[in-house]
Amino acid sequence: MTGKPLSKPRQSLEQYIRSIGRHYLHAVIVMTLLIAATYLTMLVALDRHSLQQKISFLTSNQFIRFQQLANQTRALMRASADPNLPDYIIGPMSDDIHRAIGDIRAISTELHALDRSIGGNLLERLNPRDEISVELRHELNVRLEDFLERAARIADTSAEDRRQRYSFWGPIDFAVAADSMLMRQFADLIRHAHDRSDVSIDNAKRISTGLLALIAATVVLASTFLFSPLLKKLRNEQRRTMAFEQQLTILAHTDALTGLNNRSSFNAALGDLFGELERTGAVFSMLLVDLDRFKSINDGLGHPAGDAVLCHVASALQETLRASDFIARLGGDEFAVLLPGIGDASALESVAERAIEAIAAAIPFEGRGLQVSASIGGAIVPDHASDEAGLMRIVDLALYTAKAGRNTMVIFDEAALARRLEENQLSLALVLAADRNEFVVHYQPKVDLMTGTHLGFEALVRWQHPELGLLPPGRFLPLMEGTQLIRGMTRAVIAAVGRDLKTWKNAGLVPGPVSVNLPEVLLVGGEGYEFFAATVRENRLEWQDFAVEITEDVFLNRSADQILATVARFREHGLSISLDDFGTGFASLVHLRDFPFDELKIDRSFVDGIGRDARSEQIIRAMIHLAQSLGKHCVAEGIETDQQRRFLMEAGCDVGQGYHFARPEPVALAGKRLPQQAAAIHRRTDSGPATAPLRRIARR
Ligand code: C2E
Ligand code: MG
Ligand code: MG
Repeated sequence: MTGKPLSKPRQSLEQYIRSIGRHYLHAVIVMTLLIAATYLTMLVALDRHSLQQKISFLTSNQFIRFQQLANQTRALMRASADPNLPDYIIGPMSDDIHRAIGDIRAISTELHALDRSIGGNLLERLNPRDEISVELRHELNVRLEDFLERAARIADTSAEDRRQRYSFWGPIDFAVAADSMLMRQFADLIRHAHDRSDVSIDNAKRISTGLLALIAATVVLASTFLFSPLLKKLRNEQRRTMAFEQQLTILAHTDALTGLNNRSSFNAALGDLFGELERTGAVFSMLLVDLDRFKSINDGLGHPAGDAVLCHVASALQETLRASDFIARLGGDEFAVLLPGIGDASALESVAERAIEAIAAAIPFEGRGLQVSASIGGAIVPDHASDEAGLMRIVDLALYTAKAGRNTMVIFDEAALARRLEENQLSLALVLAADRNEFVVHYQPKVDLMTGTHLGFEALVRWQHPELGLLPPGRFLPLMEGTQLIRGMTRAVIAAVGRDLKTWKNAGLVPGPVSVNLPEVLLVGGEGYEFFAATVRENRLEWQDFAVEITEDVFLNRSADQILATVARFREHGLSISLDDFGTGFASLVHLRDFPFDELKIDRSFVDGIGRDARSEQIIRAMIHLAQSLGKHCVAEGIETDQQRRFLMEAGCDVGQGYHFARPEPVALAGKRLPQQAAAIHRRTDSGPATAPLRRIARR
């Protein structure tokens, strides 16, 4: 599809050029013939002209010779009048007369031949036959012959006879009888020949003009019908090629999906800004934007959803930033912005905050609203970096720091660098943490909201760092993302919980089910299940002594089928499945309807809004209602105040967890809260409102 529009016109252009080649050949032949015809016309005209010149020359010659003859004859007559003139003078005179007569006759013969030649001339044939000239020549010839004969007779006769004639006629007879008439005839002939020549030249001019006009017409026609369409087509083709090249250039510099600049043009722009800094000292800033949990969206909802998110981010950035800012997608879910002229941290911060806000707007996708957040790192040049590599490193560092918090922006500072270094060290130490048994588990109770009765625990991991002391999961879980370390840590947590459960149970305490937060990777294969099975076996526990908490992100996992299978196996053993942090992820009603879970955990961000934010309260009511209508239990986490407890209880949620009841505590402290077995049984049989949740947990 894509190649056709380009190749088709090229093919037709080739055909066109070929057909033009044919027509051009015809045009060239026609022009050659026309040029040859013009040339021939010129030749014929010149030929005719030269014949005509010869005729005129000979006629004039003949005329001059005739006049000489007349004079010579007259002179002979005059001389003959003198009887004393000796013969040696008279003799040469009559010889001259005879020579002149011979010349005139020879010229006549030559003229006759020339007249024939000129009659055969092509141009002459176009003219009507030259009757006048023929007649004039004929009359002249007759009269001239008569004159020549008379002159010959005078020359040949005796001196006596000439004397008598001269005394009788005098020399007048010659002048009157021959001279004047013949002279007029000669003049008429010459004038007529000249006129006739003019006509021929006019003909030649007309023919040549016609032929030249035809040549011009051929040239005009050829250029109008052959070359100008060809030129037009070539111009179009060139325009198309240029447009194509332009398109290629654009493609080479833009990101096909979002239409933003790509990494290569970003590098070029960054180089330009550093050049500008060197020349004029113009400051600028850079932001590096990375989406939070983009992989979950892409893997879970598919690439169209991922693409929609990326396009949304592109337009959110375009709307937030100035036209002079340079926005690029560097790849994946990473965007970069260059902000010329921004050289102070507070200005950069406000831009980054606006960008985060714009990105956080809901994205309509297939009838639902996707939510995405971004982390942004920023730095200022030349305050923070003096070259491209340094800037990239620094911005990356700021982004990394921002990512630990998610949905935040961090402008680079020295403290961030220190944190990063510390995290690098942490990452290194984390590799050995499981083997060194540095993971410890703290327990936070789940209680009956009405009575405060203990119902179970959530196991929360901590890292007992040899130098830094006890670290919360927020400090090290992000460092584990995308690594295999989380497997070892989870195994350690499950094993620790198993050991603690055994200890408690052996001491006759009733800990209730202990929830373990199980990461997705361990739900995909059978590994997570095996950890539990081994722990249950080793410590002679019941499966129901455990519960599992998973986050909504599992719905987006590509291997949802395998996760479902693992969850089903847990539930076969009576293990309860909680949907943790409910309301913050991507669960749809369809997921909730189809996924086999037992409990919804309302995220603490909603609980936090109780008494302060009417919308949070409404959402909590809706969640509780939803859980009830799906036949699921509802647990609220992060309860810190009695007001929150009461609200939740009144809204229909009867199990909770939070600092209001207890903080997560080490095993020894947590154990102290536990009721003895007998008391628990007593409470169970005692019934009352507090026993309902306990029964639920016992049933699991
Ligand atoms: P979570 O599963 O939602 O755990 C509840 C978190 O809320 C815990 O934070 C807990 O200390 C905190 N919390 C409980 N009540 C309150 C309260 O009243 N106010 C406030 N502000 N916070 C309260 P913690 O222990 O820092 O754990 C954070 C997250 O780390 C957990 O969120 C869970 O997602 C993850 N995590 C903890 N332990 C493990 C683990 O063993 N494995 C895995 N995969 N993740 C774990
Ligand atoms: Mg949890
Ligand atoms: Mg939670």
